[in-house]
Amino acid sequence: YKDLEGKKALVLGLGVHGGALGVARFLAEHGAEVTVTDLRPESELAESLEALKDLDIRYVLGEHRPEDILSADFIVRNPAVPRESKWLELARENGIPVLMEMNLFWRYCPAPITAITGSKGKSTTTSWLGHISKLWRPDTVVAGNLRVSALSMLPQISEDTPVILELSSWQLEAFEVGGEAPHVSCITNISYDHLNRYPSFEAYYNSKRWIYRNQKTTDYAVFNYDDPIVSRFVEDCLAQVRWFSRSSHVKPGGYIDNDYIYLVDETGSTRKLLQVHELQLPGEHNRMNALAAAVLASAMNIPDEFIVEGLRTFKGLPDRLELVSVIDGVKYINDTTSTVPASTIAALKAVEGEVVLLAGGASKNVPFDELADFICQKKVRVVLLEGSATADLQTAINKRCPELIVGTFSSLESALEAARSVARPGHTVLLSPACASFGMFRNEFHRGQLFKDLVHKMEGKGTQHG
Ligand code: ADP
Repeated sequence: YKDLEGKKALVLGLGVHGGALGVARFLAEHGAEVTVTDLRPESELAESLEALKDLDIRYVLGEHRPEDILSADFIVRNPAVPRESKWLELARENGIPVLMEMNLFWRYCPAPITAITGSKGKSTTTSWLGHISKLWRPDTVVAGNLRVSALSMLPQISEDTPVILELSSWQLEAFEVGGEAPHVSCITNISYDHLNRYPSFEAYYNSKRWIYRNQKTTDYAVFNYDDPIVSRFVEDCLAQVRWFSRSSHVKPGGYIDNDYIYLVDETGSTRKLLQVHELQLPGEHNRMNALAAAVLASAMNIPDEFIVEGLRTFKGLPDRLELVSVIDGVKYINDTTSTVPASTIAALKAVEGEVVLLAGGASKNVPFDELADFICQKKVRVVLLEGSATADLQTAINKRCPELIVGTFSSLESALEAARSVARPGHTVLLSPACASFGMFRNEFHRGQLFKDLVHKMEGKGTQHG
C-alpha cells in the first residue's frame, strides 16, 4: 500500500452503514491524508464518526466544497453519490481520478476473486458458497455487500486465498471506470428492483452486466439458464459460461433433475451430488441458490466432496425465511430482506399451509400485479404496513380479491396483532414485505429485529413450541 502514503484522498459521502466507513479506515490506516465530506450534518452521522474516532481524518460535513475536490489526489465515491453529481463532474473536468471501494479492493487484492450479483439470492448464494469454500479452505474470505468491509480483509489475503464477494449493482459501477473483473462471476437472476433509482428496467439490469463485461476468456461466468434476461447475457460474454438450470440439457454447469443436483463438465460428463431433500433451506428458490453455489464452487476448483458436504450443512442466514417461533400452533417467519415482489412470491411458494402475510412499505416503483395474482390464487390473507408503496399494493390486491385484505396499519406492532388475531393453529404469519423499509424503519434488518422482538414478547402470552 506504499502508493497511498501521503496521498490526499477525499471520501465523498460517508453514510451511516456501508462501504465508505471501511474505505476511510483503510486509507487512513495506510498513510493517506484523508478528508471525508458528506452533505449530512454531524448529528446525523454520529454513529459513523464514532466508529472512525481513533483515526486522523479531516471532516467537512453538511456541505461539499469545491476546494476539497480540487485539492484531492483522488476521490473515492460512495455508491450513494450519483454518477451525475456536479461534484464528480468537477473532479473529472480537472482530471482528478474518481474511484470506488471495489477499485481499491481489486488494486490491492493479490488473489483471484469470485463475485456474485443478481436481484435476489445474492447473500444466500454468497454465504452458501463461502460455507462450502471454508470446508475446503478455512482461510476463505467472504465479504462485499454482506456488511463486512472487503478492504478490512485485505491483510488476511495471500495469492491463493479463496475470496468471495457479494456485489450490489451500485458497487459494480466501479468496473465501468476501472476495467476490473472477477475471475469467476455469477448473476443469480434479474427481477424488478430499484426502479426508483434507475431510469428504466433495462438500465437497472444493464448495471448488473458489469460483473462479467471486463472478463477475459480465461475467466468463468456462472449464469441462470432459466432466467430469460440472464441467459441472453451469454451473447456478449467473453468468459467461459457455466449454466445452472432446472433442465437437464444444459452444459457445462449444473442442473436439478428428479430431485437430484448434478454437475456437468465441458465434456458432458455428469456427476450426481445429492438429493434436494438433503438441503436444509426451504423453497424452490433455495434449490436454485444451492445449485448456483455448487456450480460456482466447481468453477473455483473446489473438490466435489466439499461441495456436497457444504450443500448439506448450510443452515441459511437470519432474516431470510427465518423461523422465529411457534405460538399457539402458529408459525412466525421473518423474511424482512424480501424487499421486492419476486422474493415475496418465492417466500409464499416456500411456506406450506395457510399464510397471513405482512407486506407493504416504501416504494421502489416496481409493479405488484404478479404478486397480487399469486396472493389471490393462493388465498393469502394480507395485513398491510403503511408506506409509500402500500397504496399501489393495496390497489393491485383490491382489483382482484379485496376480501383478502385484513387491514392497513401504521405500526408493525398493530399489524402483527391483527395478523395474530386471524391466524389459526397450523397457519403461518409471514413478514415478507415486498417493499423497502425506509420511513418506518432504519433498514430492513431493523424491521426484522423489531418483528423478532415483538414475536418474542408475544411468546410470554401464548403457548410456545419452539
Ligand atoms: P439478496 O442478497 O439478493 O437480497 P438474499 O439471499 O439476502 O438476497 O435474500 C433476500 C430475499 O430474497 C429473502 O426474502 C429470500 O427469501 C429471497 N430469495 C433468496 N433467494 C432467492 C431467489 N433465488 N429467488 C427469489 N427470491 C430469493
